[in-house]
Amino acid sequence: MNSAAAGLASVLELEHVDAAYGSFRALFDVSLEVEAGSAVALVGANGAGKSSVARVASGLVVPTAGRVLVAGQDLTGAPAHRFARAGIAHAPEGRAVFATLTVEDNLLLAFRNAPEITDARASVAEAFDLFPRLGERRGQLAGTLSGGEQRMLTLARVLVLRPRLLVADELSLGLAPLVTAEVYQTLRRVRDAGCALLIVEQHLDHALELADEVVVIRKGEVGFRGAPQDAAALSQSILLPSGHPAATDTDTEPAGSPAAEPPPPEVN
Ligand code: ATP
Repeated sequence: MNSAAAGLASVLELEHVDAAYGSFRALFDVSLEVEAGSAVALVGANGAGKSSVARVASGLVVPTAGRVLVAGQDLTGAPAHRFARAGIAHAPEGRAVFATLTVEDNLLLAFRNAPEITDARASVAEAFDLFPRLGERRGQLAGTLSGGEQRMLTLARVLVLRPRLLVADELSLGLAPLVTAEVYQTLRRVRDAGCALLIVEQHLDHALELADEVVVIRKGEVGFRGAPQDAAALSQSILLPSGHPAATDTDTEPAGSPAAEPPPPEVN
């Protein structure tokens, strides 16, 4: 049953989405849904297609088939700024800050393309409540912040626009474990404040702890969609790249076993 039928508001729906980069097909028939205020974790092996799903969700990649609905509105093929205006915020991998500007100016600059927000100062004050360390360093040049603090500022620059869905791609990449834990505490508060989350994550423990639903992407397809406790019970092999010796036997024949007939050609 979809969320409309269940009476829940859906902030994002991907319906049977295919996506490609030139002639390379990256996503096959991907369907998922993020309900308002909920957290969905996208997990999977390197190159499985998680970031591609995130880019489709933010309007950065246009699907070659299927539909993308934002709060019930069909935005398939619309430019990314329409997704942003509809309340989808994309926190990119890495650090997207202006090194030679202060923390506060970095946040104020985020409103440059959002003239509809008239209380920027109040929103920045809220961001400093959410990220007290940034508040303490509001006058400091962003380039002099630690790597973890710059990642927090990247996140804060997106959150000041009060999105209804935050799409976050590998926020913890390259961060120390303690900083990652801090980022996840912040994400929890963001979710509790009503902003839905679609998070791409390699750190399974954090993702499974925070998420209401887990979507495993495997070779460009949805390999599993369900509760985190069920995902945790799944074989870890679903997260391994295809062809890995420990991957599921749908992928590889056990070493030395004779194949009855040649495998069908790969479709990707
Ligand atoms: P990772 O965890 O390594 O970031 P991922 O699961 O996020 O991987 P994607 O980045 O979505 O995977 O990539 C899926 C596939 O699409 C990969 O085979 C990748 O090489 C390919 N791909 C991604 N971006 C592009 C691009 N701009 N041009 C061509 N191919 C791309």
